Amino acid sequence: MLQDKPELYKGLTYPWGRENYPAPDQPEQIAEGVYWVRFPMPMSLDHINLWLLEDGDGWTVVDTCLSLDSARQTWEQLFGSVMRDKPVTRVICTHMHPDHVGLAGWLTGRFGAELWMSREEFLMCRAMAADTGRSAPEVALRFYRAAGYDEEQIGLYKGKFGNFGKAISPLPESFRRLVDLETITIGDRYWQVVVGSGHSPEHVSLYCPALKLLISGDQVLPRITPNVSVFPTEPKGDPLHEWLSSSARIREILPDDVLVLPAHEAPFYGLHVRLSQLIEAHNRDLRSLFDHLHQPRRVVDCFPPLFSREIDADSIGLATGETMAHLNCLLGRRRITRRRDESGVDWYLQKPETAGFDDEPHPASRAPRVS
Ligand SMILES: [Zn+2]
Ligand SMILES: [Zn+2]
Repeated sequence: MLQDKPELYKGLTYPWGRENYPAPDQPEQIAEGVYWVRFPMPMSLDHINLWLLEDGDGWTVVDTCLSLDSARQTWEQLFGSVMRDKPVTRVICTHMHPDHVGLAGWLTGRFGAELWMSREEFLMCRAMAADTGRSAPEVALRFYRAAGYDEEQIGLYKGKFGNFGKAISPLPESFRRLVDLETITIGDRYWQVVVGSGHSPEHVSLYCPALKLLISGDQVLPRITPNVSVFPTEPKGDPLHEWLSSSARIREILPDDVLVLPAHEAPFYGLHVRLSQLIEAHNRDLRSLFDHLHQPRRVVDCFPPLFSREIDADSIGLATGETMAHLNCLLGRRRITRRRDESGVDWYLQKPETAGFDDEPHPASRAPRVS
């Protein structure tokens, strides 16, 4: 399937092409012992890439897809074909989102395999799954009313509350913790754990120096900008600051000549260019949002400078979380103020003494260079 000529697009090089994907039952070999599988998903983000790594007498799999019957069937086909009936001995999840962790419980249970994840992702996933069956807490309703939601929009939020746990099979009771910069052995290769934060709390990417591969999860995607959101559980969090710092750090500690294996879209070369593009896009958004706040506005008034598309009932949740991430980042940089009115709604405004907007320099990482 490898193209004769790699496709070049916006500074990135796609050896397999930008839109040339393997069929779910036809994994593509990326390197010795490394296979790319693409599972379809019934939503706007319509697929996820999973990675099968040969690991002695078994397989390590990275990410698992949503808990869907169709995905279980695809796994069953893979067990008997490319995986040659060797068992899954280890399941690694890059992070806690359902498309990544959805079948981790099923896979580990079926094979008696271990689950390897970072601690925050494991614990957060179990906490969120425990919301299923509960009704939305009052503090969350106050959070969305403060953002400017009307009662119809609050009703939509209540209806969706607890959906997270429905998209995953329950995680096992125990796990093996992955720690930033530790080296693990898969097959006869070393892979280094690189943790990032902002898209999710303690996201794991895996870097193999010998194969020059980076399994990047959702931390670095070639075309989509990874979602960075504030949620009611941590209303004053600044995930965008964490995301910008993580991206700058990854650009600093990892070499540029790795083949990036992202969880969505196609493998590519151009890690540093892509990280710079993502950082610049967020900084542009921060600047436009700051300009938009020359008069007091609520969260729901701040969608136009950040999103070119119309925000409807389906997208308002993500749009609100992303907008709040940008607002909290500007608050953290002391560029704007937030004032709550008598009805509990928050209003954001440029600080009067601020003459203009400059990008915040990112603290240089002191982490050692990975080689
Ligand atoms: Zn994700
Ligand atoms: Zn994802």
